[in-house]
Amino acid sequence: EVQIDIRNVGKVYDSKTTHQAVIALDGVSLRIKKGEFISLLGPSGCGKSTLLSIIAGFQSASSGQILQNGRPISKPDASRTVVFQDYALFGWMTVQQNVEFGLKAKGMPKAQRAEIARELIKTVHLAGFEDKYPHQMSGGMKQRAAIARALAPDPDILLMDEPFGALDAQTRVLLQEEIARISTEAGKTVIFVTHGIDEAVFLADRVVVMSPRPGRVRDEVLVPLPRPR
Ligand code: ADP
Ligand code: ADP
Repeated sequence: EVQIDIRNVGKVYDSKTTHQAVIALDGVSLRIKKGEFISLLGPSGCGKSTLLSIIAGFQSASSGQILQNGRPISKPDASRTVVFQDYALFGWMTVQQNVEFGLKAKGMPKAQRAEIARELIKTVHLAGFEDKYPHQMSGGMKQRAAIARALAPDPDILLMDEPFGALDAQTRVLLQEEIARISTEAGKTVIFVTHGIDEAVFLADRVVVMSPRPGRVRDEVLVPLPRPR
């Protein structure tokens, strides 16, 4: 069952400084099935973040289109949430408030969203840190909180943009194992952007390699490794 159908997507940026057009994506086509864990792998500058942000709905494609369950994606919505490398937590909110944020936006009653948030905070192993603020926590803990926040609206698709790139090696391995477990348990479709081959192969059902220039999908590598449980 195809959940995301990326059809011949191109993206051209107009550089304000050089006044030259930058082709970030050129004819990317890719179909992603429900529940798949995809790693988007490629060197810096090949267009991974651009593709992810178009899937999220943060920006539009210059050509082509992306369908989610047959319908064109046009703007961000709670069926697709994003985890960023820099966590992007709300600094003035506690962990609990950060995780509740997307549920509050949906209009869910206080008691119910508090309960869902507490469960998710447990899932990411942050129980006891509900009332901490981001600046009181390590990078790994902040990213755990960001993952819980992204899972809170129960999205169909979790988009992760080099989420562990700012973490030390030991924390990175821990969080890789956690995201493998969580995504399997929750049955989420995950699109995981990385330039780390080890990480891409370790995590994904399917590794999609993007070409350095001009940012099209070059090849797909089928990964025969079993998913960690
Ligand atoms: P990656 O995530 O693989 O590192 P990006 O999607 O960030 O790649 O960038 C792809 C290309 O588009 C690069 O050449 C980058 O410099 C360019 N680019 C990205 N964002 C912008 C922008 N807002 N304006 C102009 N050029 C951009
Ligand atoms: P081997 O020792 O035969 O390489 P391992 O079980 O150590 O087998 O790992 C298999 C592959 O998966 C290796 O390439 C390893 O780098 C990678 N790998 C294992 N665990 C992780 C992890 N937590 N994060 C990233 N890559 C991993």
